[in-house]
Amino acid sequence: MIANSPANNEITEATSYEKQYSLVMDINNLLVLRKTSLVDYPGKVAAALFFRGCNLRCPWCQNRELALTSNTPNKAFISPDQALRHIEKRRAVLGGVVLSGGEPTLYRGLPALITRIKALGLLVKLDTNGTTPYVLETLFSQRETTPDYIALDLKLAPARYTILGAKNPTAQLTESVALIHAAGVDHEFRSLALPYGFFTDNDIEALAPLVDDAPWFFRRFQPGNCLDPAWDEFPAAQEKDSALLARKASQLGKRVSA
Ligand code: SF4
Repeated sequence: MIANSPANNEITEATSYEKQYSLVMDINNLLVLRKTSLVDYPGKVAAALFFRGCNLRCPWCQNRELALTSNTPNKAFISPDQALRHIEKRRAVLGGVVLSGGEPTLYRGLPALITRIKALGLLVKLDTNGTTPYVLETLFSQRETTPDYIALDLKLAPARYTILGAKNPTAQLTESVALIHAAGVDHEFRSLALPYGFFTDNDIEALAPLVDDAPWFFRRFQPGNCLDPAWDEFPAAQEKDSALLARKASQLGKRVSA
């Protein structure tokens, strides 16, 4: 399978962030497949692959089974080969494939997987938290491994990523955005409005320099199956929570989208 491609070796050699996070996924059954989605790829009917493993620990994360890597057998998880067989059967009705997570850039076989999806004539959208620019650089180094669309999550002001179990990722996020820009890949930014003003105008001000002229979406937090169960006790974010953040971003000249 995909483990020995040259692109994979490049990722293996680029170890500085790997050491920082000590986490690169190369287990086999690491995907959950959503066979058809009308909402995960803008304007496309898509299949979505959700990867196990994440280098962040957002307490409000609702992908507990994906973010945490446990050895407990779970039939929902399938291998890339199995996922590709499903996708190939359905390619006539699909416009693209979304690679999401978890954090898909932690998967060692990502370049080869993208190559195989594109060889089926399908577009690829990558959802990432932006903390692994060395992977983006590797992906962008060849046309067949370059995603067609990227959604980059901005969680909080970079200095507050300690809440997510990470060091301040300003340098990584800045580099990721610069790489996306230089590669000319269509992209969007996404943030989650949180209740009780947990995500504030100060976060927007700190994140704004990272955001170029691509759309910036604000979704609303809903409790349920959160990584930190304490967050299940919080109310859902209200429309005003996302509207206030969007207004601040708009005041800073950003292209806010509903
Ligand atoms: S919300 Fe995304 S980045 Fe945060 S822990 Fe969950 S999968 Fe990882």
